Amino acid sequence: MTVYGPWIFSDGEITEGGIVIERGGVRILDGHPGKVDVRCVVLPPMANAHTHLGDAFIREVPKGTVEEIVAPPNGFKFKMLKKASNDAIVRGMSGAVGEMERSGTGIFADFRENGIDGVRALRDALKGHDIGSIILARPKSLSYGAKEIDKLLRAADGIGLSSISEWKRSDLDAMSGQCRRAGKPFAIHASERAREPFGDVASLEPAFVVHMIEATARDLRDCAGLEIPVVVCPRSNAFFGTRPPMERMLAAGITIALGTDNAMLARPNIWEEMRYIRMNWRRVPEAEILRMGLANGWEIFGKNPWDSLRKGSTGSFPIIECDGIDPPKDLLICKIKVISLKR
Ligand SMILES: [Zn+2]
Repeated sequence: MTVYGPWIFSDGEITEGGIVIERGGVRILDGHPGKVDVRCVVLPPMANAHTHLGDAFIREVPKGTVEEIVAPPNGFKFKMLKKASNDAIVRGMSGAVGEMERSGTGIFADFRENGIDGVRALRDALKGHDIGSIILARPKSLSYGAKEIDKLLRAADGIGLSSISEWKRSDLDAMSGQCRRAGKPFAIHASERAREPFGDVASLEPAFVVHMIEATARDLRDCAGLEIPVVVCPRSNAFFGTRPPMERMLAAGITIALGTDNAMLARPNIWEEMRYIRMNWRRVPEAEILRMGLANGWEIFGKNPWDSLRKGSTGSFPIIECDGIDPPKDLLICKIKVISLKR
């Protein structure tokens, strides 16, 4: 038995508490745990609410616009995916999943490209790993068929589309309707390179939207009012010279979660994403950044981070070791250590 504490991130803040690792599982402690074996702040496993792991095998990306680099069907990434073998793609994804586990991530949501084959490729890549996954599939091409969506909804956890600009309205409505009937989430990128009228996005009843970089003040207000969470991916956006308006999102009352987006642009490490925000959004309080990476992503998927360390799990969680009498004031400048339950 090993006791970690005496602090823990819980309900969005650092409080007294800890975690006990016992044979076959973990126990969360409320209040001061008494004698601890490892003096630290215990953090829950992180949530990566937006990835595209398919391009993890690509290690060199030319400079260019969002259209030129990542937009379907002719962006650089899609040309590379077409040329690559399934094996290389699966190996790349499996490597990226391993990186998430080693960096203390307990769940990720992937916007899976390439239809049913894409879903199967990610399932293959997940073999031998122990991490929560939300697979949001999309049709193989930019055309809609009810049967294909039914098949995707049976194989995957929901649908995740590029953006409303690439689709016919009737197709978007049909896909979001099928998700609703299947009780599975529909999610979509929004206002990434240019503003897309938020009403046209919101009427699809997305479980969450990604980016909202070019959203207007009114869009952000409407988004908050409808309680639609926004997933931001600041390091990936920086590659294209853009920046999510997090201060304005928070002021509007939006729940923000974090993603790392295309693995070829930013490796899937949420702690790095949080540190990047700390350095570049100095008006966003650290407590907010911690909630974005440690709590909000889980909430979007209706899950509790500690449940990922169920009995028999080989999952992992991060800690920040410290020897002072108080927890460190600025957690995001600290180094994390990832404790794995794997024996
Ligand atoms: Zn994306």
